[in-house]
Amino acid sequence: MDNTPQPQESLAEYVKRIRTSLSLSQTELALKAGIHLQSLGKIERGMTTKLNSKSQRGLAIALQVPSEYLDAVVRGVALGASDVLKFCPHCWQPGTTLEDIWLSPRSKFCFLCGTGLRNSCARCNEPITSVKFRFCPYCGFPYKESVNSGVT
Ligand SMILES: [Zn+2]
Ligand SMILES: [Zn+2]
Repeated sequence: MDNTPQPQESLAEYVKRIRTSLSLSQTELALKAGIHLQSLGKIERGMTTKLNSKSQRGLAIALQVPSEYLDAVVRGVALGASDVLKFCPHCWQPGTTLEDIWLSPRSKFCFLCGTGLRNSCARCNEPITSVKFRFCPYCGFPYKESVNSGVT
């Protein structure tokens, strides 16, 4: 099953597609995600195009997809399977969302400082699965390059 957002896929289409692929009814999904059935209905009818962080987190868990995928469909940023989550190790602040331009499949370097963008751990090469993480869950290496000198 491909659970990455397709190009041009809307939040409504994406949520519905993943929900159906998991054979969940709207009621079951709403329950799992901890959101009102009515709110889910609005999302799937395309009446809700933005998610608050609580619904996004709940939906991501219930749909078994990274929260960033939902973030990407909400913002209409197409993700290629191998281009998921790229960032500049210098400019990115852990815990903040990624610049759209870093996520663009054609971006290879940071538009701000020219550093090569990174989509995997610098030490063990495991792909980065969440920008909420500050450290690689596999080897504990920090995602953001430590700044030894200079001011931030
Ligand atoms: Zn940069
Ligand atoms: Zn690692």
